Amino acid sequence: MKAAIMEGIKGDIRSTNLQDPEPADDEIVIRQKLTGICYRDLLTHEGFFPRAKFPIVPGHEVSGIVVRTGKSVKKFKVGDRVASLIYIPCGKCEYCRSGRENLCPNKQTLGETVQGSYAEMVKVPERCLVRVPPGVPEELATISACVTGMVYHALSVSGQVLPGENVLVTGAGGGVGAHAVQVAKALGANVYAYTSSKWKAEKLQELGVDHLLLSDEFDREVKGLPGGGIDLALDTVGLPTFSRSLRSLKFGGRLVVIGNVQPVPVELPLGLIILKGNRIEGSISSTRKDMKKALELSAKGDIKPVISEKTDLDHVADAYTMMKTKKNLGRILIELKN
Ligand SMILES: [Zn+2]
Ligand SMILES: [Zn+2]
Repeated sequence: MKAAIMEGIKGDIRSTNLQDPEPADDEIVIRQKLTGICYRDLLTHEGFFPRAKFPIVPGHEVSGIVVRTGKSVKKFKVGDRVASLIYIPCGKCEYCRSGRENLCPNKQTLGETVQGSYAEMVKVPERCLVRVPPGVPEELATISACVTGMVYHALSVSGQVLPGENVLVTGAGGGVGAHAVQVAKALGANVYAYTSSKWKAEKLQELGVDHLLLSDEFDREVKGLPGGGIDLALDTVGLPTFSRSLRSLKFGGRLVVIGNVQPVPVELPLGLIILKGNRIEGSISSTRKDMKKALELSAKGDIKPVISEKTDLDHVADAYTMMKTKKNLGRILIELKN
């Protein structure tokens, strides 16, 4: 099969031919049409994840059709349409046993510690998979773990968003943000979207954003809301927006942090958080339950895929350059020609 290989930290990324994956007893082999390029893949390439093993097939956004099953696989058969978690949970720890497998301390991450998704075929254990319901475009199946399921988890499980609440999404023109605004709308929120890019703002209005925030001082623009600000802020950026996101909150408001494009520390004004009774919560990835919810919203048509480009296994490095310069709105996908 054709795949792309990342040679090492800041090393070459090139296409190559690899042996088709052989499933172990509990594993399933999936043939893919598409896979997503994630900002995390760029961070892997930059060397931010010390556990990453090189050379590796990068990528962790897996969906497609089951083509082979191991001997002990029970829930899936050849021909089923599936999508996978971005990691392999251990299945045994307290988190895995209580449906919080996103917190599994023993998990392996696809594209970092085990072979990933930039390939025509991927193998994962059965416990990583959910069924993709009819009517979900493949573009939304492939991003149901890392994008739509992840933002569903952040908004609904971590942020406990309620219908009618004012929700702020920063980095709204990014691959994550453009889908986060739609999930927030689908959950009944009144959505404020911050992007620093004017041309991305126009597109965001088409996605149903209620209020666009274009000023870098976006926290000032929401001061007049009841309680003095936003109920729930979803910060998808990190250092460049963290402080303003925090200052956007009303009394008792919550800030959920995901993404973290620049993995560096931020300043935390404790006085402000204490006085306003704010809560800051980190939210990591998604569980299979979140993926199912995101796929349900996708099947209903509540979420539309926001795809900026489709590339192929020969042009991954060019796509990384485009993402670093933020010239794209939405997600870049790799088309796998089978
Ligand atoms: Zn991802
Ligand atoms: Zn576990």
